[in-house]
Amino acid sequence: MPHKPRTVAGVEVTPLCDAVGPMGDSIRRPLAELFPGSNAPDEAWILHFHCYLLRDARGRTTLVDTGIGAADSPAASWAPVPGTLAGELAAAGVTPAEVDTVVLTHLHSDHASGAVADGRPAFANARYVLQRDELDAAGGPMLDRVITPLKDHLHVVEGQSEVAPGVRVHLAPGHTPGHQIVRVGELAVTGDLVLHPVQLADPAVRYLYDDDQVHAARTRGELLDALRAEHAVLATAHFADPFVEL
Ligand SMILES: [Zn+2]
Ligand SMILES: [Zn+2]
Repeated sequence: MPHKPRTVAGVEVTPLCDAVGPMGDSIRRPLAELFPGSNAPDEAWILHFHCYLLRDARGRTTLVDTGIGAADSPAASWAPVPGTLAGELAAAGVTPAEVDTVVLTHLHSDHASGAVADGRPAFANARYVLQRDELDAAGGPMLDRVITPLKDHLHVVEGQSEVAPGVRVHLAPGHTPGHQIVRVGELAVTGDLVLHPVQLADPAVRYLYDDDQVHAARTRGELLDALRAEHAVLATAHFADPFVEL
């Protein structure tokens, strides 16, 4: 079942838990290697994979991220496929055809694989919002199997943009070149800006799988400072508890 929703600025925000599990053998490392220099506990990292449904008073829906996808998805090499996003969405009372806008925070396989199903857009009536820098850097299976089938449904933005009433995206690069976060009211859906709580304690802690660890740490530090100053609520992708109050 979906986690309990919150309402911010008249928009109901529901965390949809697509999966829970450790990384597969291909990329699994101890936490101390994934987050070097942190005081992370010496244990396996059990990731949660959260997507978020945003629904305003008029019933307009935005889905932030689409999870790990089906059993044969590009995430299958390392994530606990198949994801359960479809069931979570149904439990929240929304059909795929009712989703108006999909925001892809970035094109990693655990965030964007569920954007397509059987080679077609999984949310047939939605625009898919992606940053220009992320599209330009796309390659491999995410390009061939996700972006190509979405071609006519893409809404490419640069920097800050209002993508639905009251819902804005902001470029937050480093984890990937065109990584973006989503703001609605005092809430920020943060994608992979912050991977693990050790990075809230110290935003300078780097993540092994950031594309550009230095750039990612700078972006994380700047954005977390700004978000703390406004006492924002984070909606995270991989923490066990989806919401964090700063
Ligand atoms: Zn990522
Ligand atoms: Zn991720």
